[in-house]
Amino acid sequence: MACIFCRIVSGEVNADIVEETNNFIAFRDVNPVAPTHVLVVPKQHIDSPISLQALGGEALQEMFQLIDKIAKKENIKKSGYRLILNNGNDAGQEINHLHFHIIGGRKIGRLG
Ligand code: 5GP
Ligand code: ZN
Repeated sequence: MACIFCRIVSGEVNADIVEETNNFIAFRDVNPVAPTHVLVVPKQHIDSPISLQALGGEALQEMFQLIDKIAKKENIKKSGYRLILNNGNDAGQEINHLHFHIIGGRKIGRLG
């Protein structure tokens, strides 16, 4: 299995796991850009945003509830955070296993 996030899901590679649900795992980015930088990753290897819907509506609810739970736990729900999905080359996507970045704990500049 080559995909690094699949290897984290299987437990073969260590990560600083923050939360886990049936369909998702959330762990700290190894190279954080802010005090909170957590990656929310589907346990299934999903390689594009449109494929995320294959998990079904309940899993998507589960994901947004998970994001909210992490924001509360990290104390950034009130102060705010940025939720990022990099898709493809121009977005600078490095890992071809769909994931959301939760970034907060400091003021983040505008995109561009
Ligand atoms: P992307 O650019 O694909 O949206 O983001 C990939 C992110 O995964 C990067 O922010 C990078 O620091 C992080 N990352 C890459 N390899 C690992 C790893 O082995 N463990 C963890 N925790 N994060 C990783
Ligand atoms: Zn994968």
